[in-house]
Amino acid sequence: MSDRDGKIWMDGQMVDWRDAKIHVLTHTLHYGCGAFEGVRAYNGVKGTAIFRLEEHTERLFNSAKILRMKIPFTKEEVNEAQKAVVRENKLESCYLRPLTWIGDRKLGVSPKGNTIHLMVAAWAWGAYLGDDGMTKGIRVKTSSYTRHHVNITMTQAKAVSNYTNSILANTEALDDGYDEALLLDASGFVSEGSGENVFVVKNGVVYTPDLSAGALNGITRNTVSHICKDLGLELVQKRITRDEVYIADEAFFTGTAAEVTPIRELDRIEIGSGTRGPITEKIQSAFFDIVNGRNEKYAHWLAKV
Ligand code: PMP
Repeated sequence: MSDRDGKIWMDGQMVDWRDAKIHVLTHTLHYGCGAFEGVRAYNGVKGTAIFRLEEHTERLFNSAKILRMKIPFTKEEVNEAQKAVVRENKLESCYLRPLTWIGDRKLGVSPKGNTIHLMVAAWAWGAYLGDDGMTKGIRVKTSSYTRHHVNITMTQAKAVSNYTNSILANTEALDDGYDEALLLDASGFVSEGSGENVFVVKNGVVYTPDLSAGALNGITRNTVSHICKDLGLELVQKRITRDEVYIADEAFFTGTAAEVTPIRELDRIEIGSGTRGPITEKIQSAFFDIVNGRNEKYAHWLAKV
């Protein structure tokens, strides 16, 4: 990914993509204390706009706060940096990756006295779990890895270190021939995917784990809660067991990268009809209307670049 044309915003400067480098003694590279965001821009009816930019920036600052890191830029500067990266790279629809990390001034575990950095990159990225997955649903495996307990590396931070757990779960699932992993929390209740929140539908009611299960407070998850309200669907946040997913009528993942991806199978057990369910389809379609600017009610969620 490093050898390509384009610009990356790095500590306040637009630098050539190939020159956006850091030193091997960077603190975050060794100990994993850093935070990032995943954001998308869509080329909607009114042109390219970043979806829920302010909420993503807010979460980035909250992640940094949780990790006791002070980002040396304002939220406004970070918002502007993201818009500028999309413009500079002449992208119409894309994925954006802001990341904050601890520098290379010293390497003891203590980050005190070290520098904090921020970068924003953007590139074109299609359906994260495949185009087919969006219509037919994906195959998921309950992970043998447990999602972080809420008092370990802090689950409300989109922390770099949390993703080792995601990588292990995702790699295991792919090696076993599945498309994605479903992680359970330390008590055995459903938490989330390796990079997605999870929902199930049963008898017309939509359920999602409450955040005490260690799931990230997903922005797409929140968008789906608005969609449910608009569609007159009841949404319940509660503890969910793995077998509740097996016997659900429908299930789906949500995330900035994954958008709304139906789940057709968990652990080789078909969920509902074994394809995208009707309620999932309605939510998915409402989601794409919103992100593409076809729903005026949510026009304020789209930041023109
Ligand atoms: N959980 C995890 C572990 C994630 O990485 C993501 C993606 N950011 C999500 C949930 C979904 O969050 P969002 O909808 O804000 O992208």
